[in-house]
Amino acid sequence: MKLCRFNDNRLGLVEGDHLLDVTSVLDALPAYKYPLPRTDQLIENLDMLRPKILEAAKTAKKVPLAGVTFLPPVANPGKVVAAPVNYQAHYDEAEFDPEIRHGKEIVKIQTIGLFLKATSSIVGASHGVELVHLDRRNDHEIELVAIIGKPARNVKKENALDYVASYCIGLDMTVRGAEERSMRKSIDTFTVLGPWMVTADEIGDPHDLDLVLTVNGQPRQSNNTKNLIIKLRELIEWASIYYTLQPGDVFMTGTPDGVGPVVPGDVIDARIDRIGSMQVKVRARKV
Ligand code: MN
Repeated sequence: MKLCRFNDNRLGLVEGDHLLDVTSVLDALPAYKYPLPRTDQLIENLDMLRPKILEAAKTAKKVPLAGVTFLPPVANPGKVVAAPVNYQAHYDEAEFDPEIRHGKEIVKIQTIGLFLKATSSIVGASHGVELVHLDRRNDHEIELVAIIGKPARNVKKENALDYVASYCIGLDMTVRGAEERSMRKSIDTFTVLGPWMVTADEIGDPHDLDLVLTVNGQPRQSNNTKNLIIKLRELIEWASIYYTLQPGDVFMTGTPDGVGPVVPGDVIDARIDRIGSMQVKVRARKV
């Protein structure tokens, strides 16, 4: 099942070049009172909603994807967990190009661990990326993103993938420089998620997916998730020792080689097997 959030917070079931507007099923979500839970209610209730979505789809309005504004597939993630330098080919290029690591030594992921990005940096594919530091290098990083479906604490890698509800494409945008990753990668619009999410049953093995990114049609990144240094199931096991993963939490698995700068006017095309593709425009932030 491919689910998107679109236009004014509507819910769509994506089929080919159109979607079926199944927004009505959101009425089945439980009502909450303040303080609201730090979870995403759509993801948390996905199993309950699934038959309702299929039922609603039978009579739903068809909307061509071409005119749709894609919002991030997760509205309220509690946190964004991310893996630094998690492909050997990206490690090698960062070692070769001091600009990528800002002249610092790369600390291996096994040593430095995972990092968090601010949830306020999340946008959908249609929003576009806004650059603030126009005098510095702003890089694209395509990443396979897993969306956690149920609370995960001290899980074992053998069954860690059971905790994934769905997958989407992610751009972990990055301004290169001396600051902590959590600052450089948490600028507004620097976490692009989309264009929709694909439920885990349709993805199967997440460790065998091609990722391809182009900028203005020029090839930049091309690799396969089989080359992750620390596999998704191990990332989830590791993270869940430190923080309980909650429904809606976003897991960015790391980017392969080929990272490079973008400037205002560029169009990024990011695609991952069995998910789809998204086109993301880059512009300067208006002051
Ligand atoms: Mn990254």
